[in-house]
Amino acid sequence: MVKMNFKFSVSQRFTRYVSIDTQSDPTSQSFPSTEKQKNLGKVLVEELLEMGITDAHLDEFGYVYATIPANTSKENVPVICFCSHMDTSPDCSGENVKPIIHYNYQGQDLILPDAPSQILKKSEHPDLKNQIGNDIITASGTTLLGADNKAGLAEIMDACYQLINHPEIKHGKISILFTPDEEIGRGVDHVDLEKLGAFAAYTIDGESAGHLENETFSADGAKLTIYGVSAHPGFAKGKMESAIKIAGEMIAALPSGLSPEGTSGKEGFVHPVAINGHVEQATVDFIIRDFNDEKLVHHADVIRRIAQDVLKKYPSSTFTLDIKEQYRNMKKVLDQYPHVVEYGLEAIRRTGLEAKLCSIRGGTDGSRLSLMGLPCPNIFAGEHAFHGKQEWVSIQDMEKAVETIVNLCMIWEEKS
Ligand SMILES: [Zn+2]
Repeated sequence: MVKMNFKFSVSQRFTRYVSIDTQSDPTSQSFPSTEKQKNLGKVLVEELLEMGITDAHLDEFGYVYATIPANTSKENVPVICFCSHMDTSPDCSGENVKPIIHYNYQGQDLILPDAPSQILKKSEHPDLKNQIGNDIITASGTTLLGADNKAGLAEIMDACYQLINHPEIKHGKISILFTPDEEIGRGVDHVDLEKLGAFAAYTIDGESAGHLENETFSADGAKLTIYGVSAHPGFAKGKMESAIKIAGEMIAALPSGLSPEGTSGKEGFVHPVAINGHVEQATVDFIIRDFNDEKLVHHADVIRRIAQDVLKKYPSSTFTLDIKEQYRNMKKVLDQYPHVVEYGLEAIRRTGLEAKLCSIRGGTDGSRLSLMGLPCPNIFAGEHAFHGKQEWVSIQDMEKAVETIVNLCMIWEEKS
């Protein structure tokens, strides 16, 4: 077991990164969606260069690439990539984040000083029970923390530092990728897989220590357009068929057992996320999610059937339903490379944690990377309650993630 050097600790890196606002913006047409994400990219590149990783650079799209050369005499060790995203969620402000370290947590309520109504209670954050004695980092109450995914950035950066400063740790070529705009689903739109040249990748963007996720949702978007009949409201009797009211009836008819608020575990859902319209025409945007691709088709059929049923009362109105693929469950790709997942679990166990294989009710950069040909499971970063003001991470979990990354590099070398 190699003794890690935490002199430039992962928590110092983390608190530096969260103080840089990198919120992405789904309404922006540019790439990256917000220029400010590059401010963090520049800091990361500078730090990588300081470590001696000479090819670290930020490209025009805001991606950070870097490679740590192999230091093993073995020639057949595959190139492994570690990936985290630099942006934070548009759902909650990431401006002027003030990280606070609550040392030696003893199970008490954690009150966030800038908004005393924001209180982290053990009852509402069940994972806090595993953190007794640990040091918890939160924001100050008015912003998110940004542990999603700056915990991952700090962990990968610190793992790079450990690898560079411990030449006795043998590893193949390691490729580093930091992406912008993951939170708005565009994280890999302009990624250069050839430049990465990796055989497999790991996103470091998961929740509890010890977790590895090999499965994400498959995701489609659906646009339901309703064409009604408009008429002067004073003379509309028997003529008007309001697209707005038709849309309302269709939404009301959605089964509650197929909603985000009515499902959990491996169940999928259909979820209206936006509605626009006037009397003559209305559109409803849905997201459709399931772990099983075939079920996505069934879920779309539910929308279609409801639309047909409701329109029986509105003979002059019509509808269209357009389905667009968003991303796919990475499991079917990962199942072809079982050792990619197995080595990840082994690295977690070597860190002294219980390894747990899980699925994510969402997507990651890895779901798209996997389908693009780069198998990419997700390893814990320790981030909790993300996208909100009560987001938290513990220093000890971050240190475990650093060790896991280093162990993983060693395992790929050992087994090749
Ligand atoms: Zn994330």
